[in-house]
Amino acid sequence: MSPSISGPRAPRHRFRTAGPVCAAALLLAGLLAGCSSGSSSGPDKAAGSPSARTGTGAASPSPAAPDPETYRRWGLDKPLAAPPKPPTAGLTDGMRPGDAPKVVKRVPTQDKVVFVTFDDGAEKDPEFVKMAEDLKLPFSMFLTDDIARAGSGYDYFERLRGEAGADGKRNGVHNHTLSHPNLRTLPPEAQRREVCGQQEALEKRFGTRPALFRPPYGNYNDATLTAAGDCGVKAVVLWEATMQINDMRYADGGKLRAGDIVLAHFRGPQELKGTSMTRHVTNMLRSIQRQGFTVARLEDYV
Ligand SMILES: [Zn+2]
Repeated sequence: MSPSISGPRAPRHRFRTAGPVCAAALLLAGLLAGCSSGSSSGPDKAAGSPSARTGTGAASPSPAAPDPETYRRWGLDKPLAAPPKPPTAGLTDGMRPGDAPKVVKRVPTQDKVVFVTFDDGAEKDPEFVKMAEDLKLPFSMFLTDDIARAGSGYDYFERLRGEAGADGKRNGVHNHTLSHPNLRTLPPEAQRREVCGQQEALEKRFGTRPALFRPPYGNYNDATLTAAGDCGVKAVVLWEATMQINDMRYADGGKLRAGDIVLAHFRGPQELKGTSMTRHVTNMLRSIQRQGFTVARLEDYV
């Protein structure tokens, strides 16, 4: 197989023209509905977004933001702030096929945003699908074939990709190897099988070749970067904050900083000492809010 597969990169603004039209339609719908957030007659997806209601003009990629009651239902006292307009160019824009992937531990930005990532793919809690849909939560998934394929398999993660927003984007599914080895202990050819094999598997299942790769345990070497670059990976994504059962652990400084990438896992009560996946995510989001940040889409910045 050719080592120089670059794979078609999803254009950054493929559905750009849909944005203003949808936003205008939703704004109109919001005006007609009186922008009421106290409606008790079932979900009203067209209710005005916080930015439309308050007139702050903050650009949100999702015009139909959830209302405060939806956040309360999932244990959040207040809505997550709408993320600011993403940068016009991501870190990997302009890269050419065959370029070595960038290693990203933290995203350089002044925006008060952090990025949420979930690894492996073991726990497949249907409640989390509801939560992600309700909150329109942006996150990136790094899936290991052996682990994600078990049980309901990749269908679960397809659902977690959610619906495309006005910008045409869904949550990203990315590469976390075929079998979760410590890549540093493997010779180059075995590493290539692990990384490129999962690129193929994910492209076959989701129709898009992943742009991002995360090595298990954060362990990699030059052979990993070569294999990843050859197989179309643009960035190797590491992390600086890790979600534990109830709180976060930080690599540096004891608190979140702008642009931090937060590592979490698809885990359930067995691994979380009785805590459910959704409770775990609520705890994480509360911590992010408490520290003055909101959640943005990693792929918009990388
Ligand atoms: Zn992992």
